[in-house]
Formats: sequence, C-alpha cells, structure tokens
Amino acid sequence: MPTYQEALKINEQYALDNDKEPSAVKILLLHFSKLSSSQLIEKFTEEMDHNTYQHFLKAVDQYIIKNRPIQHITETEHFYGYQFYVNHQVLIPRFETEELVGYALDFKKTYFGDNPISLIDLGTGSGCLAITLNLEDPSIKSEGTDISEEAVKIAKQNAKKLNANVTFYQGDLYKPINGKKYDMLISNPPYIPNNEEVEPIIKDYEPHIALFGGEDGLDYYRAILKDAENYLNDKYIIAFEHAYDKAKAIKKLCKKYLKDIRIIQKKDMQGHDRMTFIFKEE
Ligand code: GLN
Repeated sequence: MPTYQEALKINEQYALDNDKEPSAVKILLLHFSKLSSSQLIEKFTEEMDHNTYQHFLKAVDQYIIKNRPIQHITETEHFYGYQFYVNHQVLIPRFETEELVGYALDFKKTYFGDNPISLIDLGTGSGCLAITLNLEDPSIKSEGTDISEEAVKIAKQNAKKLNANVTFYQGDLYKPINGKKYDMLISNPPYIPNNEEVEPIIKDYEPHIALFGGEDGLDYYRAILKDAENYLNDKYIIAFEHAYDKAKAIKKLCKKYLKDIRIIQKKDMQGHDRMTFIFKEE
C-alpha cells in the first residue's frame, strides 16, 4: 500500500492533469481516513490500510471521472462553521449564503435588538439558513418550509444533529404556514433563469427544483413578495439572496408589491450585487 503522502501526491497530480482541484483530493483523503489535517501530517509516512485506500480511490474517481461534487461523496458541507448533511436532494449550501446569514444576524440586532423574533425561511433546502440563524442567535425562533419532502427530511435531520430549535414544514412557499405571521422572512430561492447555461457539476447533480426560477429567474421573488405582508407583522425584515445581475429588478419588484419600505442592497465578497434587505417600520 502507498503511504498517505504518496496517495495524496499521486492523486493531487491526477486531479491537476484533469483540470480538477487538488484541494478536493485532500478533503477526500481526510474524510475516508477519518483524520484531521494535523493527524494526517503525523501519519504522512505511514502506509494506508487497504480498505481506506480503496474507498479513497473510488471517491477520487467519482470526483475526477464522474465529475461528482465532493459534498455528495462525503455527504457533508460546512456552513458558517457547522457541519450539514447533504445529498442530491438538496442544494449544497454556498459560500455566498454565509454572507446572507452574517448580514441577517446584524440587521436582526439593529432592528429588533435582543428581543425574541419569529423567522420563516422559504425554500429551506438543507435547512442551512433557518438552522444557522437559530444557532447563532437563539432569540431567533426559526421555521422553514420546502416543497420537497426529501429536503424537509434532511433539514429536520440537520436541526436534530446540530441541536437547533427549528420547525420545518413540507409545502410550497407559504402553503404550510397559512394564518401565521412572522417578524422576519429569509429566502435564497431558486434563481437561475431556465435557459441559462449551468456548469455540468451543478446541472448533473443538484436538484433542478432548487436551481431554476423561471424564464427570468425571478418567479419565486414575485411569488414571495406578492403575499409577503399576509405573513408578516407590521414591523418586519425580508432578506433575499439573488443573482448578481438582478439587484435592480428585485428592487423594482419590492416597490411594486410593498409600500413604505426601506431597501438596503449588499454585495458579496466577490463584489457581486447578491443580497437585498427590506425593512418596514410599524
Ligand atoms: N435555503 C437553502 C440554501 O440557501 C436552499 C436554497 C435553494 O434550494 N435554492 O442553501
């Protein structure tokens, strides 16, 4: 058997030769050998055991030849410091979405102080938004909905594993929460226009229902904004993630459906217009 060092080196080169990320190979090695980075360094010159090596090689092939996302191979994604279970039934939580969480936490504090508030996450997927917000600020009582039964199962599983106090309901957008009212609404809905070109690693593996948002990618924002005030208290915050080229269109929709609001739009770390926050005073 090769040593950990040899296995890593050979397969990092294999990734490079196929225009794939060598860093992903390291993540797979750590995952299948159940080692932390520092433990790996200690074991670097030791031989790998047969089973671990076989599992690792199979995973590397899935990543390099089948172009499968490593998050599906390891069934894990880290989001805001928490480890979420993911599979092909939910969108893999993205880095940009962590920034949405950061701003949402700040705005909750400045707008509602330390007061307990209720929050609804529409299209919750893995549950990453609803769960992380509750874990980071337990004064936020989160609920989430998703049309996908499988997604709701996964979100519930993540809440349990991470000890979050969140309730999830299966159903389209507001359907399962009829008659309820919230202080804050957050959503990272499917926002890719139906005909837009999408990288194969996304298009072939992630659920299309979580990716595509109609002809112009704005169907879910329209549906959410149209009914939002039926489900929100007099004073509220709405927080959206959206496509980098849709900030203006989203602002227009907000003004069409909501009155007497203040809008703040934010860029992500890549400098793209990515988030819109809407505030209404009592
Ligand atoms: N809310 C989830 C996330 O932000 C799922 C989003 C989606 O499926 N479009 O990752």
